[in-house]
Amino acid sequence: MTAVEKMEKLANVKSGVTPELEKLYHDTDNCVRCGRCTAVCPTYKATRKEMMSARGRVHLARKYLEGSLGVSKTFKLYNDLCLGCGACLEVCPPKIKTDELVGLIKQDIFGKQGHSLDEMMMLKSCSYPQSFRWIVKMIDLNKQLGLVHLLPPELKAKANMFPPAPDKTLRDLVKGVELTRGGGRTKVGYYPGCLTQSLYPDVGMAVVEVLINHGYDVVIPPETVCCGLPHKEGGEHSEHRRLAGKNIEFFASQGVDYIVTNCGTCTHALKEYGHIFTHDPAMADKAGEFAAKTRDIMDFLTEVAGLKAGPRSLGGIKVTYHDSCHLSRRLGVVKQPRKLLAALPGLTFEEMPKANWCCGAAGSYSFKHPATARQILEQKMANVAATGAQVVTAGCPSCLMQLDYGKREFGVDCLVKHPVQLLADTFYN
Ligand code: SF4
Ligand code: SF4
Repeated sequence: MTAVEKMEKLANVKSGVTPELEKLYHDTDNCVRCGRCTAVCPTYKATRKEMMSARGRVHLARKYLEGSLGVSKTFKLYNDLCLGCGACLEVCPPKIKTDELVGLIKQDIFGKQGHSLDEMMMLKSCSYPQSFRWIVKMIDLNKQLGLVHLLPPELKAKANMFPPAPDKTLRDLVKGVELTRGGGRTKVGYYPGCLTQSLYPDVGMAVVEVLINHGYDVVIPPETVCCGLPHKEGGEHSEHRRLAGKNIEFFASQGVDYIVTNCGTCTHALKEYGHIFTHDPAMADKAGEFAAKTRDIMDFLTEVAGLKAGPRSLGGIKVTYHDSCHLSRRLGVVKQPRKLLAALPGLTFEEMPKANWCCGAAGSYSFKHPATARQILEQKMANVAATGAQVVTAGCPSCLMQLDYGKREFGVDCLVKHPVQLLADTFYN
C-alpha cells in the first residue's frame, strides 16, 4: 500500500473511534470473502442470513466505521446477535477477530446512545449480585404459584430457563472466609462467581471438597463481587475497574498462591485484569499478579495440583463434555477437562459431535434473544443425545444452566454437571 493509499484509508474511519477499534477496522481489509466463517457460525447456521455470519458482520462494521451506515435497529440487532463465540476466528485465513470487532462496536454505540432500561437493570443487578438471588427466588415462587403460565410467551420462556432455586446459596453452606482443612500445603483462593453462588452451590461445594482432598487450604470471599465482564462489554469501564479492584484487593489481603474458578467466563474476565490498570501504577502490579495466579479449576487440578481421584467408582456411567467458548477458545482449556474425566473410576467418556459449538448461553444472550438461542441450543442437544451419555458436563455455570434448560425443553434424558462434581463424587462415601 502506498503512503497516499494509506492516508486515504485512514481518512475512511470516522473520528472518535478508539485505537483498538481502528486497528480491527484495518484488519478487515484482509477479508477475502471466502465464506469459511459461514460453515462454523452458529447464528448463520440458525438463520441462514448473510448478515448473521462473520463475513456479513465485517461488511456492516466497515460501513458503520466509514460513516455510511447509521445505528439502525436492524444494525444493532445483527451486532447484538453475535454470540462472541470466536468460532469464526479459528477458520478465518487472515484471522479477523470478528467477535472483538462486534464487541467494540457495541461499546461504541453504548457510548453514543447509552443503555436501554433492560440493559441498565441487568448491569445494576450484576453490580449487586445479592439481588440476583432475589430474582431467582421470585421466579421460583411464581412457578410454584402457577403464575408463569400467565406471562407473555417471551417472558415465560425466559422464566423457564431458570432451574429451581436451591434452598441455600454457597455462602450459606460455607461458613466463614477461610477453610483450613486441607493441611496447609498451599493457600488457594476460590472465586465462585454469581451463578455458582446463587444457583449452583453444589458445584461450589464440589470445588472446595476437591481442593481439600488435594491438600490445599481454601479461601472464599465473604461476599460475591461480580467479575465485571458484563460492565466491560457494556462499556461501563469505571464500574468494571471498581469491581476488579475489590476482587484484587480481597485476594491480595489473603496472601493466596493461586486463584481458581469453576467458570470459564469468570476465569477469562479475571485474567483480563492485568490489562485494565495499565494507567494506574498503584494497581497495575497487583492486577498483573492477580491475573497470573488465576486458573480454571480443571486446568489447576490437572496441570498444577497433580490430579488424583478418590476411591469410589462412578458405576460405569457414560459422560460427554461440552466446551464452553471462553474456556476453550479464549483460555485454551480443552485437554484438561478430558484428562480429568478420563481419570475417574467407573466412567466412560464419549466425545460429542461439534463439542466446541456454542450452546447459545453466551452470558446473558439466551435471555436477550431467547428464540435464536433456542435454535442454537436445539442443535447442541441433538449432539448431546447422539452420544447416549447419561451425564453431559461443562465447565461454565452459564452453559450448565443452558444445557439443563435444553434437556427439559428437548426431552434429552441426562444429568447436567460440572466435571468437578463427578471428581468430588469419587471422594464421597
Ligand atoms: S472467514 Fe474471514 S476472510 Fe473468510 S469471509 Fe469470513 S471473515 Fe472474511
Ligand atoms: S463470534 Fe460466533 S456468532 Fe459471532 S460471527 Fe463469529 S462465529 Fe458467528
